[in-house]
Amino acid sequence: MIEMHGVYKTYPNGVLALNGIDIKIKQGEFVYLVGPSGAGKSSFIKMLYREIKPSKGTIIIKGVDVSKIKEKNVPLLRRGLGVVFQDFKLLSKLTVYENIAFALEVIEEPKRNIKRRVLDILDLVKLKHKARFYPNELSGGEQQRVAIARAIINHPNLLIVDEPTGNLDPDTSWEIMNVLNEINNRGTTIIMATHNKEIVDTMKKRVVAIEKGKIVRDEQKGGYGYED
Ligand code: ADP
Ligand code: ADP
Repeated sequence: MIEMHGVYKTYPNGVLALNGIDIKIKQGEFVYLVGPSGAGKSSFIKMLYREIKPSKGTIIIKGVDVSKIKEKNVPLLRRGLGVVFQDFKLLSKLTVYENIAFALEVIEEPKRNIKRRVLDILDLVKLKHKARFYPNELSGGEQQRVAIARAIINHPNLLIVDEPTGNLDPDTSWEIMNVLNEINNRGTTIIMATHNKEIVDTMKKRVVAIEKGKIVRDEQKGGYGYED
């Protein structure tokens, strides 16, 4: 579903963030992206949803070369994938229900479908009882579950997750992992950048380690491999 060939990224200030990435990821895989701070994990992830373009190389997602997509077609690419950030990025003036419904309103989903779909997804992340709450009335873990619900409401077959447990305590982090696991079990490919050693070591999924912009390790049922 994803193929990168000879991908390099140099930022305008001259920093070489990715230094020749080659990788294939199949539909349905769960991939942990690990490595020290500054290794290039975020740059890798941002290229998948065309937040940034590679300086060189090709990135094929579902048969489409994403670096060649015209600016006006980028929203179409993003509709087919979900993104979850460490800091949630929820809209503070909208309720939980409205934050998720918003993602359906922008694609002009008929109103009668919106309510059913939002309530179904809130059921999946176990937050139906918080539908009328605002983000600042929720715990960090609840906010992250809302962000996940919003990311998957359009049934993307690829979910990109950047440090989803970075600001959460261990129990809450495991709640988030259970939700992500359930989503992956339903067939969604997940790529997750993380520094959470306990989670990576326990889950025994594919682990791709990046250091100084290069893939230095790629193991099925891998471990975190760092001490922090
Ligand atoms: P990670 O997510 O693994 O911490 P990043 O992809 O954020 O790594 O960063 C890789 C390298 O690129 C680092 O040296 C970082 O300072 C640099 N970098 C990241 N974003 C930018 C940017 N917008 N402009 C310039 N340099 C950047
Ligand atoms: P069910 O009948 O499946 O229990 P409800 O219609 O009672 O579903 O709604 C479940 C939750 O979703 C309630 O907390 C409700 O406040 C919220 N909700 C439903 N529709 C909306 C809406 N249009 N805007 C905001 N919240 C809504």
